[in-house]
Amino acid sequence: MQQLDLFYEGKAKKIYHTDDPDLIIIHFKDDASAFNGIKKARIKNKGIINNEISEIIFQELAKENISSHFIKRLNDRDMLAKKLDIIPLEIVVRNVISGSMAKRLNLKEGEVINNTIYELCLKNDKLGDPLLNRHHAVALHLATYEDLDKMMEETIKINQALKKLFDSVNITLVDFKIEFGKDKDGNIILADEISPDSCRLWDKTTKEILDKDRFRRDLGDVIQAYQQVLERLKNRK
Ligand code: UDP
Repeated sequence: MQQLDLFYEGKAKKIYHTDDPDLIIIHFKDDASAFNGIKKARIKNKGIINNEISEIIFQELAKENISSHFIKRLNDRDMLAKKLDIIPLEIVVRNVISGSMAKRLNLKEGEVINNTIYELCLKNDKLGDPLLNRHHAVALHLATYEDLDKMMEETIKINQALKKLFDSVNITLVDFKIEFGKDKDGNIILADEISPDSCRLWDKTTKEILDKDRFRRDLGDVIQAYQQVLERLKNRK
């Protein structure tokens, strides 16, 4: 398998074609961005850590029969994955109130929600990834109702599996964002990465923030927090 041309460069990753049309290589960069690209920095070794954390998480999900685009980690910064047509929607799952939801609705951060909250956002930086509902998504031809049902079904299972995994390493899964794509047979499959860039993770005992909010909020020790998440996952029983 050979790496070919770069066909997409995002804020934190580069995606390359390979000589197999069904496979891509995802390269994890150290670049970090927040607030729609307004705040930018390079966080040394972030890409390496996120590649490894994503590998652990996708493998754990596979054990729970949740399929993803992940095939294998090739090296420090590269992951081999199935080529999908990405559905331009972000699904945000919230177990605890934080971030944009707290701001938008003037709620206190840290309150545990009795029912899980699922949000859909349009993946569009220019518009600031606006919230939309399933009817908007269908009207905009982004997905069918059947696609959205399948995404929800998978999302519920993913949240259960991730909560269990992080709970086992004394971390609260506050919220996270995932994306899906379609393979060539039309199957809906989990894509992108799952890492402290895309999840809010708090130490269960001390409530210490172990995710990208350390960067967003200038809390310092960003990489140390990411490293701690990785070490806890690697050393879990
Ligand atoms: N998130 C993400 N990418 C985005 C927007 C959100 O990975 O483009 C993640 C974010 O890290 C958090 C969750 O989704 O874990 C919910 O984010 P929120 O809507 O609170 O937005 P933010 O505070 O990031 O503006």
